[in-house]
Amino acid sequence: MPELPEVETVCRGLAAAMQGHRIAAAEARRPDLRFPLPADFAARLAGRRVDRIARRAKYIRVFLDDGWVLVVHLGMSGRMTIDAPGAGPAEPTRHEHVVMTLDSGVRIGFVDPRRFGFMDLIAADALDAHPWFAQLGPEPLGNGFDPVGLSAALRGRRTPIKAALLDQRVVAGLGNIYVCEALFRSGISPRRLAATVAGRRAERLVPAVRAVLEEAIAAGGSTLRDHAQPSGELGYFQHDFRVYGREGTPCPGCDCGGAVRRIVQGGRSTFYCPARQR
Ligand SMILES: [Zn+2]
Repeated sequence: MPELPEVETVCRGLAAAMQGHRIAAAEARRPDLRFPLPADFAARLAGRRVDRIARRAKYIRVFLDDGWVLVVHLGMSGRMTIDAPGAGPAEPTRHEHVVMTLDSGVRIGFVDPRRFGFMDLIAADALDAHPWFAQLGPEPLGNGFDPVGLSAALRGRRTPIKAALLDQRVVAGLGNIYVCEALFRSGISPRRLAATVAGRRAERLVPAVRAVLEEAIAAGGSTLRDHAQPSGELGYFQHDFRVYGREGTPCPGCDCGGAVRRIVQGGRSTFYCPARQR
């Protein structure tokens, strides 16, 4: 499943290819993804210029010149492809549900075998009030995410901090992997009561969240450069995690003498060091 760093990498790749360009042609090959596509979806994209592309949580938002925004979510298995003029497939590929051709000749595809991804067109001035966005907390890489605000958001919360950080109202777009990594780096137990993460603990947690995301985005960016080919697929890259998926291996940079432990919280795996994280 693409996490925030992957979505950010996709956004940057799409922005480089699409910003300032017009969508010369668009094709939707089925009426629905996870949800129905809006009426006349392809026709409404055709002819529009892309003003800018920005991520919010794990949503890709493509701002069009007619005041509408193409919102894309990659779901579980969605990915975007970018092909230089003439380099892409002549016909849509298997599981490719949406294809856009830009005035530059660049071909943008949306491929999603499992179809948990979705797309919609939302008026730009209605974006903030839309149910997908209205309740979202601050962006973890934005100025709105800081220790004071985080402490306030966690005040009175009787859930484990792990669960609280996955709550999109507390901070937007964080997933299981990066919550585990950030808690490890900040030395905070995933089982700790969320309400007690305030003051100095919040001051350790905020930069840890930023660091794990920024490192992964940097890795994704270098992946893009390493694979800078005329034909490119965006969406997934492998990143080295310190605790995630490392049950039973020695704790990195930890003198606990133990190993990374896995527990299940809220039906999801949590990886942590019980000695280092309190
Ligand atoms: Zn340890």
